[in-house]
Amino acid sequence: MSDAITITDISETDGETTFKRVMLKISGEALMGDLGYGLHPPTVERIAREVKSVHDMGVEICMVIGGGNVFRGLSGSAQGMERTTADYMGMLATVMNALAMQSALEEMGVFTRVISAIRMDEVAEPYIRRRAVRHLEKKRVCIFAAGTGNPYFTTDTAATLRANEMACEAIFKGTKVDGVYDKDPAKFEDAVRYDNVSYDDVLAKRLGVMDASAIALARDNNLPIIVFSLDEPDGFKGILAGRGTYTRVSD
Ligand code: UDP
Repeated sequence: MSDAITITDISETDGETTFKRVMLKISGEALMGDLGYGLHPPTVERIAREVKSVHDMGVEICMVIGGGNVFRGLSGSAQGMERTTADYMGMLATVMNALAMQSALEEMGVFTRVISAIRMDEVAEPYIRRRAVRHLEKKRVCIFAAGTGNPYFTTDTAATLRANEMACEAIFKGTKVDGVYDKDPAKFEDAVRYDNVSYDDVLAKRLGVMDASAIALARDNNLPIIVFSLDEPDGFKGILAGRGTYTRVSD
């Protein structure tokens, strides 16, 4: 795992990027636009365009997309469903999102693979680490679907796990806001954004970047998490090229 990239490395790149391989984690809700549920095709296309622009820089891209726009295990179990069944439904939702992103990217001429943690050979490749690495080397965007394949986890943990396995240099977590704040900036005008924050502070102050198991897994493997706004036009590319605002979670 690379531990060499600092915040100055990013900002001194002057339009180029020092990153070779990254993980982009977005929630399922990021794909639903202003709809209350499901997929909003123009939003999927806009995010795919962002991914393409980073791909065009020569960066190898892994992606994990959540399933919250369709189904979350916790809400299913809150309605009386068995938790594990509800979690499997959540994992299946991530496969639909991955296929939507694959379709949008391939429409733009970017080669992709959807790689599923749950076997469904007619729909997606099974997860085989060395094969996935080979896809990345061949500049195919790898969209990892079905989370970790296990209930009681989230796609944040899946993104951290796959980022470690694929030797990504950082996780880019695209959200609605441009970083991590000391309190919810949607509710508090005086919320302050961190430029840098440690994994331990994220956990101790419950800053809500990712769930605790994902943060711990990133911390234990020295994997930086860069939180940025997906709503900013050219946000993903801009951050990689040293522009824009973000928070870096690292030690
Ligand atoms: N999920 C799971 N195991 C995993 C990843 C996901 O059981 O390894 C289930 C879980 O029910 C979760 C749902 O899939 O609620 C959707 O994932 P997540 O909540 O992480 O999606 P996001 O909030 O990022 O859209």
